[in-house]
This record gives sequence, C-alpha cells and structure tokens, in this order.
Amino acid sequence: MSDRRLLLATRNPGKLAELQRLLRSAVPGVAVVGLRDVPEYPEAPETGATFAENALLKAREAVRHTGLPAVADDSGLTVDALNGMPGVLSARWSGRHGDDAANTALLLGQLADVPDERRGGAFVCAAAVVTPDGAERVIERSWRGQVVREARGGNGFGYDPVFLPDGLDRTAAELTAEEKDARSHRGQAFAALVPLVAELVGRS
Ligand code: IMP
Repeated sequence: MSDRRLLLATRNPGKLAELQRLLRSAVPGVAVVGLRDVPEYPEAPETGATFAENALLKAREAVRHTGLPAVADDSGLTVDALNGMPGVLSARWSGRHGDDAANTALLLGQLADVPDERRGGAFVCAAAVVTPDGAERVIERSWRGQVVREARGGNGFGYDPVFLPDGLDRTAAELTAEEKDARSHRGQAFAALVPLVAELVGRS
C-alpha cells in the first residue's frame, strides 16, 4: 500500500495552503503536509550556489528524513546593478537571517546612487520535487520589477515594500495575497511544478 502524502519542506502556512490549492485538482488523493506535520529533523544550512541547488538540497533532505516524496522551494531577490545579488543570500543580506528591515535598509543604501533606469531586478523562485525512488525535477520562475527608493505597503514580507513589479503602480507589499500569488515568482514556480508532481507522485 502506498503512502499518499506529499511533504512540502516548509514551516510557512501560507506556502502550504498555496500548494494545497494548486495540487488539489491536479493530483487528487494526495495529501500535502508540512514540516510541522512530520517528526522534526535537523535542517541543513542552505549552502547551494543557486536557487535550484538549494531547492533540490532541501527536497532531498526531506525525503531522506521522512521517506515521503517532497517538494521544496528557494527564493530571493536578484538586482541587476548588484550583479544578481543578494540572490541566494537574500535572507541574510544584512548578516542576520530573516531580519527583513535590516536587509531592506542595507539594499536601499547600496542602491542610493543608482539612477532609476538601472534599478531593475527580479524575484526568483526555484521549486523542486524529489521522490523516494530518486526521481528529481526542478524548475525556476522569476518576477521582474524595479527597486524603489522608499518602502511602501504593509502586506507581504522581505523585500516586498521596495519591489515595484513591472506593469504595476503598487509595490508587492501593496498587493493583496491573492494578487501577489497570481503573479509572483513563487506562484508561477508552484503552478509550473504541479504537472511534474502529478507525473512523479500522482501515478499510483
Ligand atoms: P526563502 O526562499 O524562504 O529562503 O527566502 C529567501 C529570502 O528571499 C526571504 O527571506 C526574503 O528576504 C526574500 N524573498 C523571497 N521571496 C520573497 C517575496 O516574495 N517577497 C519578498 N522577499 C522575498
């Protein structure tokens, strides 16, 4: 008898709900669970040089510790004028992991003399699925925009208040969760991963 569970290697309830919604119709009968639903294991640091490597590392680790097929993502902001940084270091750009205010303040300081026409960049998200029999798929999607000079908006997290998506006049932090999910790097990556999960995990 097969275990019809799929682990999303995250403690973020928002990410879990988003993937559950996307997978419900594509892979019926598979329950998406998060890290809070499985016995705790030591999570290795994200040492990969790329988003794709980190997503694969996290998914492989989750499979190794739980025996379940697993999905993992890794994301960040790449700024053209900084040659793609902060990139995979986005979460700890200021030196402290997850300090959104300090990370954003440092980024704005670094870009202070960069003119408006060279403030482009993108949020990037890699999403990976790995199965216990060793099958692996990884995809990457991005969301282009500009880094504005002053933070605007109270929604979202991370660099959202200083990211103005192309084609919009509101920052990512001024969008509703639904508006952001429909356009974002993570929303696009999860949507693109669904057929791959269906192919690898949905088969009975
Ligand atoms: P992780 O994928 O959870 O490791 O996130 C990496 C870091 O990238 C976060 O801590 C944020 O600083 C940044 N980041 C990733 N996605 C977003 C987003 O959608 N909005 C704002 N910041 C983001």
